[in-house]
This record gives sequence, C-alpha cells and structure tokens, in this order.
Amino acid sequence: MTTNPADILSLPRAGWAGDEVAMLYDMSTRFLSEEIAPHYEEYEKNEIVDRSAWEKAGAAGLLCASMPEEYGGSGGTYAHESVIAEALGHVGVDGFGIALHNAIVAPYILHYGSEEQKKKWLPKMATGELIGAIAMTEPGAGSDLQGIKTRAEKDGNQYRINGSKTFITNGQNANLIIVVTKTDPTKGAKGTSLIVVETDEVEGFTRGRNLDKIGLKANDTSELFFNDVRVPTANLLGHEEGQGFIQLMQQLPQERLLIGAQAIGMIERALAVTVDYVKERKAFGKAVVEFQNTQFKLAELKTEATIGRVFYNDCVKRHLNGGLDPVTASMAKYWLSDLQCKVVDECLQLHGGYGYMNEYPIARMYRDARVQRIYGGTNEIMKMLIGRSL
Ligand SMILES: Cc1cc2nc3c(=O)[nH]c(=O)nc-3n(C[C@H](O)[C@H](O)[C@H](O)COP(=O)(O)OP(=O)(O)OC[C@H]3O[C@@H](n4cnc5c(N)ncnc54)[C@H](O)[C@@H]3O)c2cc1C
Repeated sequence: MTTNPADILSLPRAGWAGDEVAMLYDMSTRFLSEEIAPHYEEYEKNEIVDRSAWEKAGAAGLLCASMPEEYGGSGGTYAHESVIAEALGHVGVDGFGIALHNAIVAPYILHYGSEEQKKKWLPKMATGELIGAIAMTEPGAGSDLQGIKTRAEKDGNQYRINGSKTFITNGQNANLIIVVTKTDPTKGAKGTSLIVVETDEVEGFTRGRNLDKIGLKANDTSELFFNDVRVPTANLLGHEEGQGFIQLMQQLPQERLLIGAQAIGMIERALAVTVDYVKERKAFGKAVVEFQNTQFKLAELKTEATIGRVFYNDCVKRHLNGGLDPVTASMAKYWLSDLQCKVVDECLQLHGGYGYMNEYPIARMYRDARVQRIYGGTNEIMKMLIGRSL
C-alpha cells in the first residue's frame, strides 16, 4: 500500500475546501495520474508538454476553473486553482504549466480586460486552444522589474513592440502572451503597460531557446523576441496606458500564494514517498524507519509541514475573503518554498544513494523544488518586502 500525499498530514484543507472543491481535487489527481504521468518522462525528454495534453486538460475542466462560466470557465475561486496546483505536486507532474495559465495569466484578463477581450480570449484559454504566458523578466531585468526595456510605441491604432524576454514559463507553447512593456520610458513604473500578444496573429515575434534547466524539465521555459511586433491598441490591458505596475502589484498576492500551494503539494508528496521508502528499505537487519534518527527526522519534517499547511490554509481563507495582504503573501512564498527545499533535501537523504537516482521520485522533486525560491520574486526580495512593513 502506498501512502497518499493528501493524507500524510492528517489535515484536511481546513476551512476552505467544500465538497465541490474536494471533488475537483479528486478529479484532478485522477486526470493527472491517468493522462499526464504516463507520458511525463517523454515530456521531460522533449522539454515540453504536448499541446494535446493541454486540450485534454481543458476538456476535463482543469483549465480556467476560477473563471466565470460566461467566459468558458467553471465559475470557481482560488480554492479551485489551489487544489489543481496541489494535485500537480501530489501526482509529481510539477512542470505542466497549467497553474500559471489558470491562476496567474487568466486573472489579468478577467480583472483588467474589456468585455470584448474577455469574450475573445478566456473561452479559448479554457479549452487549451490558447496557452497563456506572462513575460516580465528580461536578460537585464529580473528582480528590478522597473528596469525593463521592452518598448511599446503607439503608431496609429497599433502598438509596435520591440524587446526581448527570458525565462518565460510555457514560452514555446504559449500563443497568448501578456507582455510587460514600457509605453513611456520617461515615467519609470508609471510608464509600464501590459499588452497582450496573440502570437498566431503577428509578424516579428520569434521564440528563442527552450532553456536547458536543472529541473522542471517538462516545462518549456524560453526566450522570446519582439522585433517590430504590431498589435492593435485594443490589446492593452486596462483603460489607459501606465497601469501595468499597479496591475502587477495587485495580482502578486495570488501569484505568491500559488507558489505556496505548489510547495505544500510537493512537501506532502515528499513525505509520503519517503515514509513508504523507509518502511521497505532494510539496513543492519531492520527497516530504516526503525532507526531513531529516521523517526526523529520524519517527526520534525511532519511537524514543520503541518505548521506550513496551517499557515497556507489561513492564507487561502484570507485570500478568499479578499484580505490577503502582499506582506503575508510574501511570507507564504518565502517560507513555504524554503521549507519545501529543506523537506525534499532531508527526504532525499533518508533514501541514501537511491535518492540520487533519477528513477526515484524524490530525485526529480529535488531538482524541481529549487526554482521555487527564485521565481515569482526571489526569497530575498520577499524578505525585503516583509522588512519594509516593520
Ligand atoms: C524556471 C523559471 C521560470 C520562470 N518563469 C517566469 C515567467 O513565466 N515569467 C517571467 O516574467 N519570469 C519568469 N522567471 C524569471 C524569475 O521571475 C526571475 O529569474 C527572478 O525574478 C529573479 O530575477 P533574475 O533572474 O534577474 O535575478 P537577479 O534579479 O539578477 O538576482 C540575482 C540575485 O540577487 C538578489 N537580489 C536582487 N536584488 C536584490 C536586492 N534588492 N536585495 C537583495 N538581494 C537582491 C536576488 O535575490 C538573487 O539572489 C522564471 C525563472 C525561472 C528560473
């Protein structure tokens, strides 16, 4: 019998997941286990998840679960997105970039898009016909987002976009990209605007390398180049130029919380596979679980994971009530991703040499976990934001 990651902490998703959300969790783990996990090694080898998998996820209701039904979504909330993200971690298919598509890209269109934009893009994002990405980072500007150089110049009823982006999740598959641009470089943050580029419809857009990463191999994290790309001015998100930075700031709590969901999902799976492993593995004539060190280590990790789960649950409840402040969301991102790396490292140690072998799931978790402390704002930047609140 293998341990179910959802049961390892004997903690339900306390206080925020009703029956319908629980059903979506079950459906998501089933779908990901049956439709994604069997092909995952091939996706890792190809460094991209097939588009057909996205379309299947759409048909199964895993895309745009929190978007209103009138725009093709399932009418859910962040709770729905959270259980999908947790399911990705529990099944061990963390590189399938649907959580970013669902809970980061689509909300920008919902919150800042015009009625026409929402009707045009969200239904296609819900089926997987459009795959979303958000392009903020540039070769010369990551943490310091105000330093971006990508320029969008108005030319009649079009924007002309020039610049390059890097490290963009879903970068090869994406055909709807929210590009962070400068519409007025003299105004700093106030000159920043978010513009949607539908890549199937433009010239001058090219995809660079699908980047060779140490983990999240199945994700097509890429470089993107914009060379006189023309899009209608109607692709601006928001009523006027210069709103980009404010829009980015407003969406950060959910983005950071989502990284917390991914952390919790992997933490629970790491504990589950490790408990199973140490019960099976023998050394000095007994199961590894019988050594006091193993028990103490797992006791510590389970305790810390429980603290993390309780904190995460509290953040979700606050977010669902509209009360998750950016500082608390930064704490969740930083602390849960640090904890994730610690738990996975300790669990790998309990596997001995087998933990270092790619055929054991803990090895992939070790590679995949590391980036969680870097993207979505590095943990150092999170601490800076928390520090400023003191
Ligand atoms: C796998 C992956 C997927 C990603 N997906 C996306 C995506 O979809 N879209 C997107 O736009 N970006 C994405 N990113 C980019 C990611 O958000 C950035 O890498 C991250 O914000 C850090 O920026 P940087 O790499 O330029 O590092 P830098 O900003 O150069 O930071 C280097 C180091 O300096 C530290 N540092 C920087 N400023 C300070 C400061 N003020 N005080 C203290 N320390 C500081 C940082 O913490 C870090 O340790 C992704 C990155 C990766 C690796």
